[in-house]
Amino acid sequence: MGGDGLVKRVLAGGRTGEAGGGVLLGISAMNTNQRPSGRIGTLTTVLVTSVVSVVLCVLALLLSGHLRAEPAAAGLQRAEPLLEHGFTGQSDRSAASSEVCSGKHEHDVPGNVRRNPFQEAMKGWAAQDPVPKRVCPCCGWSGDVFAHLKIMWSQWGDRPDKQCPRCKSLERHRSACSLFGAGKHPFLAQEGAEFLQPPQGFGSVPFRLAHFGPEKTMDSMLNQVSDMDQIGMDFMPWLYGPSTFFADITSIPLPTNFSDGVVVLHVMEHIPALEKATQELVRILRPKTGWALAEVPCYFEQTRDCRDKDYNGRKECAGQPDHVWGFNCDDFVSRMRQEGLHCRRVNLEEDLQPWATKLIPSMRVELLPSYICSTG
Ligand SMILES: [Zn+2]
Repeated sequence: MGGDGLVKRVLAGGRTGEAGGGVLLGISAMNTNQRPSGRIGTLTTVLVTSVVSVVLCVLALLLSGHLRAEPAAAGLQRAEPLLEHGFTGQSDRSAASSEVCSGKHEHDVPGNVRRNPFQEAMKGWAAQDPVPKRVCPCCGWSGDVFAHLKIMWSQWGDRPDKQCPRCKSLERHRSACSLFGAGKHPFLAQEGAEFLQPPQGFGSVPFRLAHFGPEKTMDSMLNQVSDMDQIGMDFMPWLYGPSTFFADITSIPLPTNFSDGVVVLHVMEHIPALEKATQELVRILRPKTGWALAEVPCYFEQTRDCRDKDYNGRKECAGQPDHVWGFNCDDFVSRMRQEGLHCRRVNLEEDLQPWATKLIPSMRVELLPSYICSTG
């Protein structure tokens, strides 16, 4: 019985040092009851019991210490990719953990502003004179020229100075990353405000981001943000990282009002049940404060509904065989609004902090239609 109790306590990861030692002493005493009687035998039994108890106590203390040390080790591991990528930002997870241990929420600390490593990297480049020729806001790389992208089967696949040689980001990724690093939007990276901060009143609950179609470059960038739970989902999860799980955007397996933010880059044009998908995004987002960052190709004069076409028909109708919609930008916005998602088009010149706008040519961002949408 005592042994079972110890196992449960150790598995629970609680403070088992002293209590565990006590239980172990009990086991040892139980075992010694069956030893032969006699003075020498009794002395030996007492000695052996003491030594065994001390050793087991030390082991129990070490074990419980090890279990308590794990969160800090995880925090260090999490910070490593940042250092490798040249960012100076430090994970504040261990600091947050110590506040939790001391029973103090980070919101109670006046002037506690979460560090935004991407903003720090971008500020570093912006302060240089001249600014570096090429910078990648997704991974922190800088250099003279981006890599030449060549895809044999694509008419757009032969382009110089396009792909980040480190994280493989393209213009559209860098556009989104720059918003997370130097955006004015209060829910992205408003200067002086906390980065990706859940609304006040939620204690130390991490920011929750639902990311549909989590392409590797954005996925790894967002995973470096401390105190954020990113949930990667897709209808074809095998196309993405191992932490992406299967989800149908028209029936999202997340509770209502669950997410603080949603990232849907080049997703909505693939979804036949567009209305249902938009309703689902609104459902999982927190009311009023929830936001979505959406990108869609929308270069048609009028929206084309290509859902009933075959492979070649969709290619002609929507410009790509896996797109079922050929959107007109204004029509896309009004379709979103009908379901309760209020979107406005991103204009980096206006949506980035003034100090960051001089980095726009260095990032080689393409102003593909990006939208910041809100449930409020
Ligand atoms: Zn990069």
